[in-house]
Amino acid sequence: QPVDLVDELASSIEARNSEVGAYLSYDIDAAREAAAQADTSLPLGGIPIGIKDNINVLGETCTCGSRYLEKGYRSPYEATVIQRLRAAGAIPFGRLNLDEFAMGSATENSALGKTTNPHDPSRIPGGSSGGSAAAVAADMAFATLGSDTGGSIRQPASHCGVVGLKPSYGRVSRYGLVAFASSLDQIGPLTRTVDDAALMLQAIAGHDKADSTSLDAPVPDYSAEIDQGVAGMKLGLPKEYFGEGIDPEVRKRVDESVKRLEEAGADIVEISLPHTEYAVATYYIIAPAEASSNLSRFDGIRYGHRNRETDDLLDLYKLSREEGFGPEVKRRILLGTYVLSSGYYDAYYGRAQKVRTLIRQDFEKAFEQVDAILSPVAPSPARKLGENSEDPLQEYLSDIYTIAANLAGICAISVPAGTVASDTGTQLPVGLQVLGPHLGEASLLRVAKAAE
Ligand code: GLN
Repeated sequence: QPVDLVDELASSIEARNSEVGAYLSYDIDAAREAAAQADTSLPLGGIPIGIKDNINVLGETCTCGSRYLEKGYRSPYEATVIQRLRAAGAIPFGRLNLDEFAMGSATENSALGKTTNPHDPSRIPGGSSGGSAAAVAADMAFATLGSDTGGSIRQPASHCGVVGLKPSYGRVSRYGLVAFASSLDQIGPLTRTVDDAALMLQAIAGHDKADSTSLDAPVPDYSAEIDQGVAGMKLGLPKEYFGEGIDPEVRKRVDESVKRLEEAGADIVEISLPHTEYAVATYYIIAPAEASSNLSRFDGIRYGHRNRETDDLLDLYKLSREEGFGPEVKRRILLGTYVLSSGYYDAYYGRAQKVRTLIRQDFEKAFEQVDAILSPVAPSPARKLGENSEDPLQEYLSDIYTIAANLAGICAISVPAGTVASDTGTQLPVGLQVLGPHLGEASLLRVAKAAE
């Protein structure tokens, strides 16, 4: 019964949220009330779904992990994915922690609270959807929604040992997701199983006229083929994803998963994605460029924080932004403004767009040869809290395996691939990434299920 599900969640949250810090807020009573009226004949009937705090749910906070929106902002409307979850019978539940405006890979850039890895409290959950991944891993949610601009669903899923799916660009409406980098952002599910990811995608996918970049393409039945296995499928291993920089233990887990897929009948071939080495640089030009433009709406007037000491308009803009944004957000705005400035536009932004096309073409060529691509999700297991705080570049480099999928607009999923022992004896999860062609989610899920 739905009410029992809510009570089950309530007791796990009670037991673990103070340590894990996945939820910024939640309302058990409201969820219980919604559960009492749930229509259990619907696909997600009566199931509470945790929501990353950058997706608008009518009447709730949408802090984006930022001081800027912490107080004084309540969503006056509802994201399309939330409307669709409700139509499928689900109960949007709670607000999950994230890196400020989804900028980061550890959830340490949240201004509103710390989230730790449920498998080891001295370590990061990954990010930016760290709250969404940790909640599922700590049994504080059956499934959650996250957003993925450069890996923010897949990488925390990998670090927390859950399934995380980034749909193809345009597959899921972005309406109501607070924009980070609009040409890269996608909303997707974090779940306990691949089957659940298929159910969640089914509920949220499809055209939406409120998002001009959402595609008007039919949505297949994602569960129909999911159990068909990988016999006869061709799966590619990109040689650039297995070179230096990958932790040998992570590599072992990924190799073992590949071996299992081979034993299940897949044909494993080596492929090349030659422009991989430019992906991080390209992403860290394009994403901040778009972010600096998207975040210009935070002007001290329209949303959230406002400095009330000044009576000068320009100072109002400056002080509100100075006080409201954290250091990583400011860094991205500076980077983005720089690469878009007239003197540097061609050298950086224009050039990055060209390289982005080459990266996309690498994948198009690869998918003429193979049905899906297999790779690690992150070069190492979850690191210790606080480790990269002085070294943003090091942190950016850890996104190497996930960002290309966003630049290319293709779909990708992280599936648990075992664990690696840490030096303190904890077991740290590692994920296998499966990448599929644009709108190829059905066969992507099939490979992921076989790898599970
Ligand atoms: N870690 C990447 C970044 O900091 C990706 C974040 C994301 O996917 N939202 O930009």
